[in-house]
Amino acid sequence: MAVKKASTRRSELEAEQARLLAMIAQMEIESDENLGYGNHMADDATEAFEQAKDMALLQNAQRLLQQVRDALRRLEDGTYGKCESCHEPIDPARLEALPYLTLCLRCQQRLEA
Ligand SMILES: [Zn+2]
Repeated sequence: MAVKKASTRRSELEAEQARLLAMIAQMEIESDENLGYGNHMADDATEAFEQAKDMALLQNAQRLLQQVRDALRRLEDGTYGKCESCHEPIDPARLEALPYLTLCLRCQQRLEA
């Protein structure tokens, strides 16, 4: 698989960043709206569960956004696509699937082991 041009990768990452920002904004609006429904007869346990789930989704989106921003920064400084740990190039096929990866497969596996 050919390595993508940095400009192509940047527009992909910028699109992802825009998508995440829109998603986070939407989730924040919804959680504000939910605060107004505290007095109705909903099952408290269910409501707490839903709120925890929303919070996890929001945190996940924020973490992803941070990773996408890091990837954009690495594109700028020319370190994009290199493993942060061993500085070897990351497999382009893995970057294709997860464009904000910072570790090669070997270092990732070592970290998770
Ligand atoms: Zn590595």
